[in-house]
Amino acid sequence: MTKIKQERKFVIVTIDGPAGAGKSSVAKALAKRLKFSYLDTGAMYRALTLKAVREKINLKDEGALVRLAKKTKIDLKDDSQKGLVILLDGKDVSEEIRSEQVTNNTFYIARTPGVRGVMVEWQRRIGQQRSVVVEGRDIGTVVFPHATYKFYLDADFEERAKRRINELKAKGAQINDTAVKIDLKERDTKDSTRKVGPLKKADDAILIDSTNFSVDEVVEKILGHIKQFSTVNHSS
Ligand code: C5P
Repeated sequence: MTKIKQERKFVIVTIDGPAGAGKSSVAKALAKRLKFSYLDTGAMYRALTLKAVREKINLKDEGALVRLAKKTKIDLKDDSQKGLVILLDGKDVSEEIRSEQVTNNTFYIARTPGVRGVMVEWQRRIGQQRSVVVEGRDIGTVVFPHATYKFYLDADFEERAKRRINELKAKGAQINDTAVKIDLKERDTKDSTRKVGPLKKADDAILIDSTNFSVDEVVEKILGHIKQFSTVNHSS
């Protein structure tokens, strides 16, 4: 069976884009509307970063990071109460992976080709088992180049920064707005300039600018593009 056929057995919707564009909220809501699973690939990179930091692994040592990835089990579970739960070797790390320390160190994990290879394999395996809305940076370009529907979600930098700042404040974090903006800009640059799996709009992805739209409005726009999805086998 060709890769294309394997990927097409179920419906794959990809949503790529930079941090703060609204990918997670949109992908979650969209998955709910379509009754598909939701795959947050950023959470996978974050979980592995958390483990590497905890185990004090040299983040510049590619071999050590690949060995770590190969012996790590990351599961994403839908919990009716908590929403998406991220399990690292069986333990819930949903909160810890959102820390600033993890956010600012994902770069080392994300730039390592061998680690990306392991991640991409995990993600493809999930896409072969069920219909799914997958969000990330390289999903439409590398992970599922033959996805059924591809979207690239973007927003103006100032708006993305505002969302990130509000999100952190809502969690009660003591933050400096300028520092958050600098971190975001740095992450944008690192994500879009790395050699493997950079943040990039797939040529055939539909670009959606969420700057002036709510999550619900963006979901409606995407659903508008997903015509005839009910005629495809999308049992999840
Ligand atoms: O999406 P989120 O902001 O949680 O992702 C955290 C980091 O994980 C990103 O900044 C990026 O470096 C990395 N990532 C990636 N490829 C993906 C998803 C996330 O490199 N598909």
